Amino acid sequence: MKSMDRTGRKLISMRDAQNALAAGARSLQVCGNTVVTPSARDFLAQHNIALVAADKASAAAPAASSAGRSAPPPRSAANPKLFHTPEAEAVKKEICAIGRKLWMRQFVDGNGGNISYRIGPNEVICTPTLVSKFDLTPEDLSMVDLEGNQIAGTKPRTSEILLHLEIFKAQPEAKACVHCHPPHATAYAITGRVPPNLFIPEFEVFVGKVAISPYETPGTPAFAQTVLPFVKDHNTVLLANHGIICWADSVTHAEWYAEVLETYCWTLLIASQLGVPLAQISEQKGADLLAIKKRLGLPDVRFDTSQMKECQLSDLEASTPIAMTPGANECRPAGVANAELDALVASVTDAVMSAIGGK
Ligand SMILES: [Zn+2]
Repeated sequence: MKSMDRTGRKLISMRDAQNALAAGARSLQVCGNTVVTPSARDFLAQHNIALVAADKASAAAPAASSAGRSAPPPRSAANPKLFHTPEAEAVKKEICAIGRKLWMRQFVDGNGGNISYRIGPNEVICTPTLVSKFDLTPEDLSMVDLEGNQIAGTKPRTSEILLHLEIFKAQPEAKACVHCHPPHATAYAITGRVPPNLFIPEFEVFVGKVAISPYETPGTPAFAQTVLPFVKDHNTVLLANHGIICWADSVTHAEWYAEVLETYCWTLLIASQLGVPLAQISEQKGADLLAIKKRLGLPDVRFDTSQMKECQLSDLEASTPIAMTPGANECRPAGVANAELDALVASVTDAVMSAIGGK
C-alpha cells in the first residue's frame, strides 16, 4: 500500500489515503521515517482516519500497514490514548459547558465558534464541525495533533482548528482557545479598529491591549497564521470581519476573556451614544492596573517598554472614531438647557478662533 521514496522513507500518498477509506480503515500506522503528503493528510483528517504511531497502535487497528517499529515516532505520531484519560473526560465536560455558555450569551450562531484544549505536547481536544455549541456532548469531541490530523473521536474536527494550533505552537502558555463571534466585539472587528483602553479596570487587567489580525478566508492555513504576530503579547485578538479568539490556561478562563471583551465593547458603544464625553481612567491609575496584571502573570504588550510608543499611537487611532461615534456629540444630554450648551459652544469656539488667530 505504501511506497518508498528515493531515500528509503515510507510514503503515504493521496492514493494510499483513498485506498484506506475504500477499505473502511479507521487508522493508519506510521513510524519515524514515514512521510505523509499534505493532500493525503488533509484527506485522512477529513474522513476521520487517524495516523497512529506503530508502537502505540492497538493490534485491533484495521487496514493499517506496519512500517517498522524501532524508530521513534515523529511529532505527527500523537498519543490517541490521551483522549480517554480522566483529565480528558473532565476537559470534554468543561468544553461542553463552555459551549452552552457561548450559545446562551449569543456569542455563537448556527454551528459557529470552536473550543480547544491542549492536553498533551502534541494532542489537542477540540469541538467538531457542524454542531451547535449548545448541543455539544462529550461524545462529539475529537482530538488532533499539532498539525491538525485527527487522531481520536468519531466526528470530524472543526475546520478552524488550524487557528488554535498556530496559537498553541507559538505561545507555550496557551492551554486552551475559545473562538466565537460576540456581536459587539465583532462590530469593532468589522471596523478594523480595536477598542480604546483605560475605561474599565477589569478589562485593563484581564484583557488590556486587544490586537486585530487582518482578514483571511476562515479555515485556511493563511487565516490561521494571521494571529501569529500578536499571540505572544495578547491573550485576546479581534479577527477582522469575523470574530475573536482568546487563549488562556483553561477553557473556562479563555471564555472569561471573551466575556470581558464583549461586555467592554458593548459598554463603550452604549456610552458613546449618551452624548457626553467618556471619562477615561488616568495614566497613573492605569499603571496601577498594569502592575496588578503583571502580578497575575497575564501577557500585555505594554510590559515591553520598547513597544510602548507604538501602543500609545494605536490608542489615539483606536479611540477617536470608536469611543465617540459620529454624531454622538450632536445629542444633548438630558437636564442641560439648550441655552447653557449654546453658551458653552460659543465660548469654546471663541477660544479656539482666538488661539488660531482667526479673530
Ligand atoms: Zn468563526
